[in-house]
Amino acid sequence: MRKPFMVANWKMHGTHFDTMQWIQALSYQMEPSDYDRVDVGVAPPFTSLRTAQIVIGADDLPIHLVAQNLHWADKGAYTGEVSAAMLSKLSVSYVIVGHSERRQMFGEDDRTVNRKVRAALAADLLPIVAIGEQLEERDAGQAEEVINRQLSGALARIPAEQVGRIVIAYEPVWAIGTGRTAEPAEAQKMIRHIRSRIRSRHPEAAEEVRILYGGSMNPGNVAALMAKPDIDGGLIGGASLDPHSLAGCVKYWT
Ligand code: PEP
Repeated sequence: MRKPFMVANWKMHGTHFDTMQWIQALSYQMEPSDYDRVDVGVAPPFTSLRTAQIVIGADDLPIHLVAQNLHWADKGAYTGEVSAAMLSKLSVSYVIVGHSERRQMFGEDDRTVNRKVRAALAADLLPIVAIGEQLEERDAGQAEEVINRQLSGALARIPAEQVGRIVIAYEPVWAIGTGRTAEPAEAQKMIRHIRSRIRSRHPEAAEEVRILYGGSMNPGNVAALMAKPDIDGGLIGGASLDPHSLAGCVKYWT
């Protein structure tokens, strides 16, 4: 049984002071039993990770710390970059890899994504690999082809026993930050397709891999999305900036 996972992706929002207040505000909204039902992750900017680690640690909150990116090398002359080992030392347990904003604006391709996935796993960080088609690709009937290419790129040369630990986020690019959510049936269809692709090479891992939906998820649409059998959670951008909204997504059954 896959445990649902809701991840707040703040992107480039919030200072470390905001982080402190946000985590406290979220924790006031949550009951211990909520964390039993759903894993909760928070991905603040790098500059807030240390603060988040302290606030989460001080109250022993069961919130997973997530980084938004990493570099594939352990260390070296890579000005402005951050390694998996550096993140691990801050109690980061997951890292987002291949977000469409990084693919589109920072030139990340499938090979880069694969290097980052392997670096994360080698450091015992669990990658949340984002994949998704652009609107023109969907309109041209290429959505599955794009997903297949991004998925096999990300999973290339990953040992079979590691595949089940990876989280995939299906994020149709046209739904990110646009307020336009994929219809639950469409999201389910694409996510089932992703799971069946994984199953064809890694039958056991396919049942373990958590596949999240991302793209304008909010408290108003989360229940319909989570009712679908293959959708295991959400990668939530805009709505996660308000701790009340994130709590609304986490408690999707209420
Ligand atoms: C995201 O950041 O991955 C995302 C899905 O953003 P939004 O929820 O704002 O569409």
